[in-house]
Amino acid sequence: MYSNALKTGCRTAMQAWKFKNELGKLRLDLAKANTEFTQHLLKAVSCNCPVSSTRFIQKRHRIKIALQRQRIQQSKPQIKQKFAIELRSRLYSYRCYRELTAIAVVVIASKQSQLPSVVSPKINCAQLSPLENFLCTENCHLSEHLDSAISSKQYVKQQKQFYRDYSNASFGAPLKYTEAPLLGDLCQKYGLVISRTSADVGLNYVAGHRNQFHRKMSTSSQKEFKRLPTNVVPTHYDLELQPNLEAFTFEGKTSVNLKICDSTKCITLNALDIKINSVELDVNGDKLQPSNISYSTDNETVTLTFDQELPAGASGILKMSFAGELNDKMKGFYRSKYFTPGGEERYAGVTQFEATDARRCFPCWDEPAIKATFDIALIVPLDRIALSNMPEVKEENLGHNLRRISFDRTPIMSTYLVAVVVGEYDYVEGKSEDGIIVRVFTPVGKKEQGIFALEVATKVLPYYKSYFNIAYPLPKMDLIAISDFSAGAMENWGLVTYRETFVLVDPKNTSLMRKQSIALTVGHEIAHQWFGNLVTMEWWTHLWLNEGYASFVEFLCVNHLFPEYDIWTQFVTDMYTRALELDSLKNSHPIEVPVGHPCEIDEIFDEISYNKGASVIRMLHDYIGEEDFRKGMNIYLTRHQYKNTFTEDLWAALQEASSKPVAKVMSTWIKLKGFPVVSVESIQKSDNQRVLKLTQNKFTADGSAPDGDYTWVIPVTVSTSRDPSKIAKTFLLDKKTMEVVLDDVSADDWVKINPGTVGFYRTRYSKEMLEKLLPAVRKMVLPPLDRLGLIDDMFAMVQAGQASTAQVLQLIDSYRNESNYTVWTAITNSLANLHILISHTDLMEHFNRYGEKLYRPVAERLGWDVQEGENHLDTLLRSLVLSRLVSFRCKDIIAEAQKRFREHADGTNPIPADLRSTCYKAVLQDGNEKIFNEMLQLYRSTDLHEEQDRISRALGCIGNVDLLRKVIDFAMSGEVRAQDSVFVIVAVAVNPKGRDMAWEFFKDNNQKLLEQYQGSFLLTRLIKYLIENFASEERAVEVEDYFKKNQFPGTERTVSQAVETIRLNANWLKRDLDSLTSYLKQQ
Ligand SMILES: [Zn+2]
Repeated sequence: MYSNALKTGCRTAMQAWKFKNELGKLRLDLAKANTEFTQHLLKAVSCNCPVSSTRFIQKRHRIKIALQRQRIQQSKPQIKQKFAIELRSRLYSYRCYRELTAIAVVVIASKQSQLPSVVSPKINCAQLSPLENFLCTENCHLSEHLDSAISSKQYVKQQKQFYRDYSNASFGAPLKYTEAPLLGDLCQKYGLVISRTSADVGLNYVAGHRNQFHRKMSTSSQKEFKRLPTNVVPTHYDLELQPNLEAFTFEGKTSVNLKICDSTKCITLNALDIKINSVELDVNGDKLQPSNISYSTDNETVTLTFDQELPAGASGILKMSFAGELNDKMKGFYRSKYFTPGGEERYAGVTQFEATDARRCFPCWDEPAIKATFDIALIVPLDRIALSNMPEVKEENLGHNLRRISFDRTPIMSTYLVAVVVGEYDYVEGKSEDGIIVRVFTPVGKKEQGIFALEVATKVLPYYKSYFNIAYPLPKMDLIAISDFSAGAMENWGLVTYRETFVLVDPKNTSLMRKQSIALTVGHEIAHQWFGNLVTMEWWTHLWLNEGYASFVEFLCVNHLFPEYDIWTQFVTDMYTRALELDSLKNSHPIEVPVGHPCEIDEIFDEISYNKGASVIRMLHDYIGEEDFRKGMNIYLTRHQYKNTFTEDLWAALQEASSKPVAKVMSTWIKLKGFPVVSVESIQKSDNQRVLKLTQNKFTADGSAPDGDYTWVIPVTVSTSRDPSKIAKTFLLDKKTMEVVLDDVSADDWVKINPGTVGFYRTRYSKEMLEKLLPAVRKMVLPPLDRLGLIDDMFAMVQAGQASTAQVLQLIDSYRNESNYTVWTAITNSLANLHILISHTDLMEHFNRYGEKLYRPVAERLGWDVQEGENHLDTLLRSLVLSRLVSFRCKDIIAEAQKRFREHADGTNPIPADLRSTCYKAVLQDGNEKIFNEMLQLYRSTDLHEEQDRISRALGCIGNVDLLRKVIDFAMSGEVRAQDSVFVIVAVAVNPKGRDMAWEFFKDNNQKLLEQYQGSFLLTRLIKYLIENFASEERAVEVEDYFKKNQFPGTERTVSQAVETIRLNANWLKRDLDSLTSYLKQQ
């Protein structure tokens, strides 16, 4: 999927937040359980009785059953609430249990001065529920690993680490200390127990087995979630769907060929929000009806129970008919609104199944590893186009204005990649040089807007074919623009669906930037046809591999097709630095996260999976080299085609191809949260030899000490002034510190770490090393990516309080001659963060003056109009620089922009698409109601989604709060599609003038917004931008309190991240305000 451009978010399982008041009731039960537990534990400690823990387990089990019984008496939504609460509470008590057991072991060990094998409960595991069973095995492990005892101080440290790791493995929202009292003050109790523990005995268990912990804990926390049983598996589906595009319903039939692997009476498969009307199972000629059909909404499954045992080894055919709603939630089989050229409102039927929504369309085994072939047929009105993954093979007229269209059989594939579309479209068609038919479907009357994507797609297919050395396995490739679409695009095999702005190019009205991101998106989705569709992750835990990889390869492919875009340089500002920024927060998470329930799966389609995933793959690509990387990819894809893989399978293939320790290097990047900062000092040893001393530490956004012991295996590269574009040395930094000798370096030479900004880490140079680099920046001897990396690292140090803002502004001065677009993007991004701080002070005018001085020389070089033969990046740079100068209130630039806008609005001289946003901003930031209305007229006069986006987002920069309020009303008016209105509100919220008002608006309208966006990444996005630009402790507390009292399920991680950012801003401001004031006032 392409969600990158739309960023982070989605739902999580943390329904518990929503139902917090329910906690009160449960609290009593748990407090009781905990008291009992403590008593048992004390008994266990005093008599060394191994059975006590067993009793405790049994006791708890009884309490749990009582809770469950209580649940059953409640209504359905209440059950759901209780379920969520209990799940979370169980996490707590499980954590407490573990820790207390560990402590008990320590206590016993200290008493006996020997290793306590007695703690291992000798009980019959078969009698226990899976949770207890798990606890029991964990306990056995615990005693096995007691052989290395360490000091209790260290134990406490490890325990803290354990908390953090645990919260990572929990539902995505960190568990908070403040919530501990919910469990009867247990947290305080361990404090007491620990303080009584002998000082020289402890556990080394937690640290050494952290990864196992992660895995196991997640198993336990998601006990209620189970993957489908594999006793019966499908091999082929016949699927027929008939949407009713007026009543917004659909009917369907499936006939599934099954293999019965183990004899059973039950078949469990996924189904959600659909009603199964009839079921018949044909086994060995017997036609069986189920005696019972039971749905589980929590597990999103349906279980068919038969009276007779289905024999192992038999095959069967399961026939079902079902019906559902053509919903408006942009998932499953849904309706998408469009207008005919005559202005009539109509609806298309569209599917979006990733990650787990095929089950909303037809009953199926909806897991990526349960692959099958599909024969799909659609019954549609005669005047509608019907598309699916494969080409059409047969058409029958059914009368009543209906036809039945059958599609060819698909290869063996996962359910989340199945797709159908029914609607009215025009298309353009081409053929790739290797004979694949490519079509781009557009709204009626706009087929020429599909030409650019068609060109890209027809070129991309043969490129990947030769890159992977495997042909595209399907006979056709369709791309289609969908008017209501929640993500950016979706890689359904053979039928890729796109948001209109991610595929349509109107040559007169599409900006270069948009065109570039369309090329990337098309490259991304087509890469998935191999990496994802042909070879699929075994489970969603490995999703990052799909997305990180596709997000990397899209650049490889665009670089091949459009070398003039210099796209790899842009990778660094688009993907890499954004990932670093997010990943430096305490509330980040490791790339690979164990997930279970569907609501957890959606949460991992975030910047860590996409951007950090792509960045570490780029680092790996660089480490093993292009040739071996290609070879390894071919091994991987060939070996696993039509099958499923784990992350480790890719490492194995790449290791085989490169003979380098790929798994060892990569596992630290995948399993650890955050990234290192490499501090480097140098000593000149002789005329020609320099010694570098490198030290790695975890980088933290606030400069605080890391929350544990982190060591990465870092492929480090070094360049020197002898040849700035060549790697002088490569080595692996796999311990805390290391010394490296560089030959051929004289005392005057500079040394640059991480040339090309490829390694996913930051570098902190000693003062001398940095000073040597500056002239190379000024003279632009240092390559662009190195200039960029330097400034970005430096800025991060400033935010972390390890360098002062005035220092970095001085450094930026060295970039005044800069000519590279991407370097300017990095500077602009950094200054944008600073701009937020300044907006909380009275320094804005001084800051504007500083900005104007910095950007003006470039603007003067570029002018307003595109020069003949101008390169791509200069065109992008012009938009960037002029837009900044407008924001810096540069008078002559604003006047020129206003003049151009006038001619544009009159229709005398349209502004080129690349400069439109800039000119819109110039008139709007000081605009009055008349301008506002004029912009609305422009909005209404276009039907190009891109232009509507551009105008509606520009409205956010109006300087008048009353008008900004009208902008929000406009966003909510229905005139803006629900998928877009969030971005308009965000535009208002990021304007310092609109910041408070937007936040008040949100609070006043929270229910309405929640109803509209719950369970969507759009809500996360909205909340992030509404709050993260505050910069005071009071605001941080206010926001925290607000989200404690008002529940927005699925936004917990975002809220924690944003609150963390508010505090970072506040501290930064406090720290640097004085020096910043004096620096800016001197300008
Ligand atoms: Zn993707």
